Amino acid sequence: MIREVITVRGFTKLRKDILNIIEKSKAPLCAEEIYQKLEQKPNLSSVYRGLYYLEENGMIKSITFDKNTRYFFRSTNHPKHYLYCKECGNIEAFDVCFADKIQEKLEKKHDYKILDHIFYFIGICSNCKKKM
Ligand SMILES: [Zn+2]
Ligand SMILES: [Zn+2]
Repeated sequence: MIREVITVRGFTKLRKDILNIIEKSKAPLCAEEIYQKLEQKPNLSSVYRGLYYLEENGMIKSITFDKNTRYFFRSTNHPKHYLYCKECGNIEAFDVCFADKIQEKLEKKHDYKILDHIFYFIGICSNCKKKM
């Protein structure tokens, strides 16, 4: 990761810890969840600043589902396929990929080079279904 070496400036211990937490997680995490997992407890706003820094430097990406909460994930982590529960906000990752089948067709039709994709379903998880 050449980029990470170049951007040592501003890459504090806290930001490194945030990156590690995101890296280890299979599903994307929001700022509060990351804050809960941090060993040293800074204030939440430095977590937000750290996330902004990491995203600006291309180390992480973020996604929003049907609420305003932003969820962060490692840009190199695969798979980027998620099931999002609209009741409790739980996010589960899955491995089945549909993209390969349509990617080539889309590239031809739109004269487009596809580099990456994020795919998610919105629904109700098994826990929430049981409560209904
Ligand atoms: Zn749920
Ligand atoms: Zn895929």
